Amino acid sequence: MSANFIKTERDLSIYLHEIETKLESLGNKISELSFQRYLDKQDNPEIIELTMERSAIMLDNELGDQIAAWQGKITDPVLARRVDIWSDSLLLARVEALPEIVELQQKVAYKVMSHGYLVNGKRISLGQVRALVRGNPDKKIREEAWRSHTELHEMVVDDMLELFRLRNRAAQDLGFATYVDLRLEKNGKMTREQVERLLTELTEATQDFYEDLIDQGAKKLGIEVVEPWDIQYILEQQGGVPKEYFPKDQLNQALEKWSNHMGFKMSDYGIEPVFIDIPYNGLTMGLNRKNIKILANPDDGFTYYGTHFHELGHALHGALKNVDSYILLRESSIFNEGMAEVFGYITRDIKWLKHFHQLSDELASQALVSSIGPKYHYIRQRTSYCLFEYEAYKNLDQDLNELMAKTEANILHCTSDFTPRWASNGWYVSYPVYWQNYVIADFVASQIHHHLEDNIGSLTMDKSAYDYVVKNYIEQGALVPWLKKVKLGTGKELNADAIIADLTKV
Ligand SMILES: [Zn+2]
Repeated sequence: MSANFIKTERDLSIYLHEIETKLESLGNKISELSFQRYLDKQDNPEIIELTMERSAIMLDNELGDQIAAWQGKITDPVLARRVDIWSDSLLLARVEALPEIVELQQKVAYKVMSHGYLVNGKRISLGQVRALVRGNPDKKIREEAWRSHTELHEMVVDDMLELFRLRNRAAQDLGFATYVDLRLEKNGKMTREQVERLLTELTEATQDFYEDLIDQGAKKLGIEVVEPWDIQYILEQQGGVPKEYFPKDQLNQALEKWSNHMGFKMSDYGIEPVFIDIPYNGLTMGLNRKNIKILANPDDGFTYYGTHFHELGHALHGALKNVDSYILLRESSIFNEGMAEVFGYITRDIKWLKHFHQLSDELASQALVSSIGPKYHYIRQRTSYCLFEYEAYKNLDQDLNELMAKTEANILHCTSDFTPRWASNGWYVSYPVYWQNYVIADFVASQIHHHLEDNIGSLTMDKSAYDYVVKNYIEQGALVPWLKKVKLGTGKELNADAIIADLTKV
């Protein structure tokens, strides 16, 4: 339907439906090819072509004019909501769909994705680099692995800076102070100050607890000066349950067992885990509404069980939305991570460890106590990546190596080391302004779990709790704004109380 013929709300709804159908089919095709690219590690020029095609739709003036003309004047609440989300999406597209930005982003992303890291004379994957930093008892090797990011950094840093500049310039043309402000406002309905306030509140309230963890851990391991490549090692190697109790070859069974307990099979929703070397811990890709792949790059050990359940959360959040409109399937990425983490939390429930994973009381408690360190690493590392990104976009002419070093030293409680490496961080390319999502996700997950445990039941054991989550947080998709869903579902505005309580109980 041509836009000229749109006279009624019904016309508008049909017009949007046509565009949404086109976008969904393009999106599915792009996901399919991107999934293939993860499998065969071959760049595929068709991905860029399709991405450009999608961009052209999002940047179409006629569509923009229609949305602007109708917004605020619609009586049908569902259509009104659709138009509001369209309006936010189109504004974001005016930065993110710009051809020069898309092209540069794809180019850098490919270099990051296909890079082999040079450690001890050998090229190894990012997963292997991570394993060394996380678990190698030899400080020199951890340091070398940690520094191995520099080569990739040097390869992409100029393009990355240019990408940051382009994003900032386009956001400023739209009246925002920086790209970060635009992204948070249009994707999450939060301001930078709001996010910074929540992160700061959490950091400060857990500071003593965290410093004790680091200081005691360092002492136990005989580490005198705590350097950046010691942090994860200190936090993750604290006499946990031996990794044999959490083998990676039983990860899928663990998901299936819990799913069966809740009365479904993953395959009912087309959910399938695929083990593959990817530059992320895990990644969930919807190839279409009925075909959802969980890409996993697992390690033995308790931590990855949390990651795998987190990815199952993404998959269920994608599969169980009960809305027809494509645009109403799209929610704030903050909330997406929050919902994933609601499921990730299942593994940190003693009931899961005992009932589903069949550990003894003693081992189950030990697993929980030892999970505190990794959790702190997870949150504080992400907090520092996030705060670095916010500060970087504020002034791209400052020394960003120094900024990264100081931000990490401050949040992680270690020496500051100016080794260039920030640009090797794949999220800054492909998932810009994303790091806060993981931390805010924990606010969401903790608050939802506290409410469930106090009022409904346990998401680990009780179908009633699972149904409550699906009904109150998933089914409506973007029909209800996410902060409102959290408020309606838990009876409270999103706040730091639950997460602080979870992170400081022993
Ligand atoms: Zn996630």
